[in-house]
Amino acid sequence: MEDTIVALATAMGEASIHIVRLSGPEARRIIDECFIPRSRERWLRQDNFTLTLGVFQDEDRVLDEVLIGRMSAPNSFTGEDVYEINCHGGPFVAQRILHTCLRYGAHPAEPGEFSKRAFLNGKLDLIQAEAIIDLITSKTETSANLALSQLSGGLTKIIMDLREKILETLAFIEASIDFPEDDVETLDRESLANRLEEALAIARDLLEGSKTGKILREGLLTVIVGRPNVGKSSLLNALLKEDRAIVTDIPGTTRDEIREYVSVGGILLQLVDTAGIWESQDIVERLGIERTWNALKNADLIILVIEANVQLSEDELYILKTYSDKIIVLVNKIDLLENEKIDIPNIDHWISFSVLLHQGFDELEKEIKRRVYQGEIINSADPLLSNTRQISSLEHCYAALQQAKISFNSTMPWDILSIDIRQALQYISELTGHHVQDSLLDDIFSRFCIGK
Ligand code: GDP
Ligand code: ZN
Repeated sequence: MEDTIVALATAMGEASIHIVRLSGPEARRIIDECFIPRSRERWLRQDNFTLTLGVFQDEDRVLDEVLIGRMSAPNSFTGEDVYEINCHGGPFVAQRILHTCLRYGAHPAEPGEFSKRAFLNGKLDLIQAEAIIDLITSKTETSANLALSQLSGGLTKIIMDLREKILETLAFIEASIDFPEDDVETLDRESLANRLEEALAIARDLLEGSKTGKILREGLLTVIVGRPNVGKSSLLNALLKEDRAIVTDIPGTTRDEIREYVSVGGILLQLVDTAGIWESQDIVERLGIERTWNALKNADLIILVIEANVQLSEDELYILKTYSDKIIVLVNKIDLLENEKIDIPNIDHWISFSVLLHQGFDELEKEIKRRVYQGEIINSADPLLSNTRQISSLEHCYAALQQAKISFNSTMPWDILSIDIRQALQYISELTGHHVQDSLLDDIFSRFCIGK
């Protein structure tokens, strides 16, 4: 980490300005060699976080007139000396400044290296670092809000509360192992059980909220199914025309199928394109195709499109029954009905729809929202866990806590209980990126004067 790194912080190309960012122990020297401030006196007594005008030059050749922002260690994003060179927006100008910094000893930054340094220097925890990536790649306002709330540390606070509870539990156990004959009142079983329950409750709530969080971040995996000619492609195209989401790539997800993204009422839908399968073959054969079944099984949401007053097929009935908890039925082409009457045996809730007349879209949106938020008012600004890696760590932590509860309620020696709790702690530290082993003992001993 002794390297000084440099990178273009803005997108390559023509713009009104570009920003070249420099961070590390050599940053100050490099700037001193290349930057001639208009007023040296002001530059020398310049405060952190102010901009200074001057010229940037390579030896005696002036490259551009620039504004330089200085953020000295440790009060900078990375925790190191950081300089941001605001230059004119031509790609050549920025490139030449970049190359000059390299020639004077900087190294090109790896992707994410500024954030990584911020993390290593304790400026960000892993949750916040990952939130930055999410914020940059957000595709809807809702997911941007979510990332922003994670960045602001609200989520970290809840997780630190959880960690705290687990540490307290561990401290109880360690104390009772070390001093079994002590009649320290804090060591009673009941308060231990309470701590454990509290920790379990926090973890459970977080996991519950993470379902919504994950959907807001990655989108609702949505499969549109139905017989040929019911209007699936028309629906897809209508949604795409109106609400196509701009998507490049979502970190942490595999893109093994062709997917289209739309944002419906602020909720991102990943529309899995199974149309080819569904339309190319006879329905019995189609249903035999594993990929289609997997798509249905893995889907968060299935939109089954049917036509009014047509007898449902075996397969449609099967899908309805099997996936009743995640299916929305659209009865399309109601514009063709003579009278408004729709009668579908076996279904009690459907949305009357017409892609042609643009009817039913509002209700579809409402229904999707209702399912995502499960009737609860969840604000995307609430701290929700949404990152797959973080959720997985928390799931492991939760499982370890449950194991601890089993050990606690059995006649297991407390050493075993201690192992379960340590495991839980390990996973929660993995989540935030804290090194558990180093801080564990400090944490315990600062809390309890066991050596009294
Ligand atoms: P898919 O095979 O399920 O993808 O169906 P398509 O989207 O290709 O549509 C089949 C036919 O139905 C096309 O001619 C569409 O124009 C027509 N269609 C789709 N939606 C509607 C609708 O709401 N009303 C009417 N009258 N026709 C529709
Ligand atoms: Zn189609």
